[in-house]
Amino acid sequence: MSQQPNVLLLGPPGAGKGTQSANVADEYDIPHVTTGDALRANKDMETEHGTPRSFMEAGELVPDPVVNEIVAEALGDEGYVLDGYPRNEEQVAYLADITTLDAVCLLSVSESELVDRLTGRRVCDECGANYHVEFDQPAEEGVCDECGGELIQREDDTEDTVRERLRVYHETTEPVVEHYREAGVLQEIDGEQAPDAVWDDLRATIDETV
Ligand code: ADP
Ligand code: ADP
Ligand code: ZN
Repeated sequence: MSQQPNVLLLGPPGAGKGTQSANVADEYDIPHVTTGDALRANKDMETEHGTPRSFMEAGELVPDPVVNEIVAEALGDEGYVLDGYPRNEEQVAYLADITTLDAVCLLSVSESELVDRLTGRRVCDECGANYHVEFDQPAEEGVCDECGGELIQREDDTEDTVRERLRVYHETTEPVVEHYREAGVLQEIDGEQAPDAVWDDLRATIDETV
């Protein structure tokens, strides 16, 4: 197997992509490239398409040129785990032009579980680590285990915006999943298991594929 694989992690909002990407990045010593975190760090960046903030707070996709540029700059030639991109067919085509994927893994989770996960999600304000008020509590309430940062609720993790993000996923991002399925490269993982069991399956899948 190549030492530093190019891994794509797909799945609906709340499927566990961020949580599992941290494991993948550690295990294979590769960077975690996530458009969501990059956009959150640049919410008020002026672009000719406006700032990312208004799109993100409404649960809509940020315009392609903005995210494409983030990805083009972030993908190096020493492997990566990509999370949150591509989210539509145009992004799929752009990605195919700039890199070659070694493994494409889908985390599958039912809709009702996604809503519970997202509305209970807490994230570290400093390092971006993910927690959950019920399923993945930190040692000390409100404090990040990794860095001591403050745990906050994302503005788009409220029930209404979660519903809109899931709608956008079904309409615009499910065709992306079908694209990779039809290409015969999609590996599906049961994302509804406990985090450690998901990770066991994901690691085994990556090791078999690349
Ligand atoms: P995504 O990046 O796909 O939106 P996250 O990794 O942020 O998803 O996970 C969403 C929420 O669900 C977080 O609060 C996280 O702690 C929790 N979570 C992640 N994986 C699991 C799991 N296997 N079982 C239960 N909760 C999980
Ligand atoms: P999730 O937890 O839903 O997987 P992310 O952190 O990946 O959320 O994304 C948060 C928001 O950032 C999205 O709702 C969207 O507004 C924007 N975003 C992230 N990735 C993309 C992308 N590839 N294309 C367009 N917008 C994106
Ligand atoms: Zn932290």
